[in-house]
Amino acid sequence: MAGAGMGTAPRMAPDTVVYHPGQVVPASGIYRCDDGCGSTYESTDVRGHRFPPLPHGCSGTGWVLEKAAAHR
Ligand SMILES: [Zn+2]
Repeated sequence: MAGAGMGTAPRMAPDTVVYHPGQVVPASGIYRCDDGCGSTYESTDVRGHRFPPLPHGCSGTGWVLEKAAAHR
């Protein structure tokens, strides 16, 4: 149980997780595609929902959480 925690992630954004179309939405919030074209997907009720296909013309590979929904 010695401290093995920080400093092992070489990625610049360790919190960035890409969710692919068809995957179950883990949390409600606003997602955006990962190619930066500006497409967004807002999920307000994730119960049993899955990520939609990326919009036509979008060359991203999936969705990333941009803003988690406020917890209430
Ligand atoms: Zn896109």
